[in-house]
Amino acid sequence: MGSDCLFCRIVAGEIPATVVRETETTLAFRDIDPKAPVHVLVIPKEHYADVATLAQGDPALAADVLATSAAVAEDEGLLGDGFRLMFNTGGYGGQEVFHVHAHLLGGAPLGPMLARNLA
Ligand code: 5GP
Ligand code: ZN
Repeated sequence: MGSDCLFCRIVAGEIPATVVRETETTLAFRDIDPKAPVHVLVIPKEHYADVATLAQGDPALAADVLATSAAVAEDEGLLGDGFRLMFNTGGYGGQEVFHVHAHLLGGAPLGPMLARNLA
């Protein structure tokens, strides 16, 4: 992937981001358009398009993304009041950037899981 992918370019340092945590395999940085007082994106440094591809291709790396997300949640003081961890996936999921990313959201009550009940 690389130069065509926005988040690969952030990993490469070609596009600036406010990084809050970095490990050997993952990067966590603040969303450019936050939807909550805390809105951090957590990604594997290696390119996978979405969470299904990641989980099937490298389950240990998927676990790294979860572990980094939990560490950031702790750093941001979210463990007491709670938070939401979300992977938008594909068209129906509303995914816009096709480098898998967990949205870590918190710092205020986040409301219902979805704006409308679609069931
Ligand atoms: P998606 O809709 O794919 O689940 O989420 C993509 C997220 O990436 C959005 O919340 C959007 O605000 C964020 N985003 C898009 N471009 C950039 C960028 O250049 N830098 C950062 N930090 N976040 C971005
Ligand atoms: Zn990428």
